[in-house]
Amino acid sequence: MNIIRSLKGTHDILPEESNKWRKLESIIHEVCLQNGYNEIRTPIFEETSLFSRSVGEETDIVSKEMYTWADKDGTSLTLRPELTASVVRSFIQHNLSNQSPIQRLYYIGPLFRRERPQKGRQRQFHQFGIEAFGADNPEQDAEIIAVAWQILNRCGLTNDADLNLNNIGSLECRTNYKSALKEYLLPYLNDLSEVSQGRFKSNPLRILDTKSEKEQEILKSAPLISDYYSPEDKNHLEQLEEFLNGMNIPFKINEKLVRGLDYYSRTVFEFNSRILGAQDALLGGGRYDGLVKILGGKQTPGIGFAAGMERLLMIMNKERFSSEKLMPDIYFICLDQKGIHIALRISKDLREIGFKVITDPLRRSMKSQLREANKLGTRFALILGESEIQENSVSFKDLVNGTQKLILQSNVLKFFDDLIK
Ligand code: AMP
Repeated sequence: MNIIRSLKGTHDILPEESNKWRKLESIIHEVCLQNGYNEIRTPIFEETSLFSRSVGEETDIVSKEMYTWADKDGTSLTLRPELTASVVRSFIQHNLSNQSPIQRLYYIGPLFRRERPQKGRQRQFHQFGIEAFGADNPEQDAEIIAVAWQILNRCGLTNDADLNLNNIGSLECRTNYKSALKEYLLPYLNDLSEVSQGRFKSNPLRILDTKSEKEQEILKSAPLISDYYSPEDKNHLEQLEEFLNGMNIPFKINEKLVRGLDYYSRTVFEFNSRILGAQDALLGGGRYDGLVKILGGKQTPGIGFAAGMERLLMIMNKERFSSEKLMPDIYFICLDQKGIHIALRISKDLREIGFKVITDPLRRSMKSQLREANKLGTRFALILGESEIQENSVSFKDLVNGTQKLILQSNVLKFFDDLIK
C-alpha cells in the first residue's frame, strides 16, 4: 500500500527541530512582553471577505494564493494567509480600543498561501508579528522597528541583515504619485513584463520593487515618491530617522520599497538577510492608518510587522541551540513487573518536583535500558529489581562517575532534592 506523505509545500517539524522552534518562540514571547505587547490568538480560518477587503483584491495573495472554500451554508471561508487582518477584526469585534488608548498585541502562528514551493517559501509557514493601535506619531513606528531589531538581535541576525525603510506617503500623496508614475511609464508599457503591465492598471507602485533588470533600468529616471510628500509625510519620516539614529538602529532609505499589500500608508520597512538567496525578506511591516476603518471600525491608526519563522530558523546560528538538548535527568529501570506501579509512582513524584524522568514501557533487559539511558545522555539511573522491591528500596546509580547506593523508596524525593542543592 502507498504510504501517505505530507502535502507539497508543507513540512513536519520533527523533535530535533522543535527545540529550536521553542527557543525562538521563547525569545519572541520575552521581547514582546518586555515591550508591553500582549499575545493574541485568533482562529485559523475566517470569512474570505476579511482578506479581500483588507489585503486587497488585486494582490497576489488574494487573487491567486488563498485556500478558499464554500462552507455547507454557502459562506466563503479562507485559511488565513496573513494575520494583521484577523488581529484588526478581533480588535474591532471586542472593542479593544475602549480598554486603553494604545493596544499593543503580538501573535505567533501558521499561515497558508498557495505559492509555488521553493527554498524559504512554503504553503503552510509560520509568522510572528506585532501590531500597535492608537498612535500615529513616529515614535510608535520607532518602537515597532526597535522590537523587530531586538528580536533579530537576540537571534544573532542583526549583523547579517539590512533594514530598508521607506515612506510611501499618505493616501493623497500616493494618489498623486501613482498618476505621475503611470504617466512616466506609459511610453515604456510594451517593454514591461506581463505582470508589471497588470500592475500598471491595478497598483503601479508594485512595479517599483520589480526584480527585472530591464525594468529597474527603466525606473532609474522615474519620479520619486519623496517629491510628492506633504509637509506632514516629510516630517514623519525625518523624525523617525532621528529616533532610529538615536537608538543606534542602522537603516537605509530605499524609495523602491513598497511592500505587497494594499493597506500600508507612510512608513514601510523590511529586514533583508544578506545570507539568504532570492527569498531574502526576513521581516516586513508598515503603518496602516486606514485599515481599521476599512474593516468597519472607528478611524484608528495602526502599525505592525510580520516575520517568517522558517526563514529566521534557516539562518540562525546552530550553536545558539546546542545547549538546548532535552536530556532526561533520571532513567528509571524497572526489572520486575511487580514493581511497575512503584516505578510509575516514584517517577511521577520526581517529575512533580522538577526532574525529567524516563521509564521503559518495553520491559527490556537491564543492559538495553542502561544502553538507552547512556544514549539519551541521562545523568542518573534508578534500578528496581526483585530484591529492592522486597526491601522497599531502590538502587541509585550515577551514570557519569559510577557511584551506586541503595536508598529507601520513601526517601527518594529527599535524596534527589539534596543532590541538587
Ligand atoms: P508578508 O506577510 O508577505 O509581508 O511576509 C512577511 C514574512 O513572512 C516574509 O518576510 C517572510 O519571511 C515570510 N513569508 C512570506 N511568505 C512565505 C512563505 N510562503 N513561506 C515562508 N515564509 C514566508
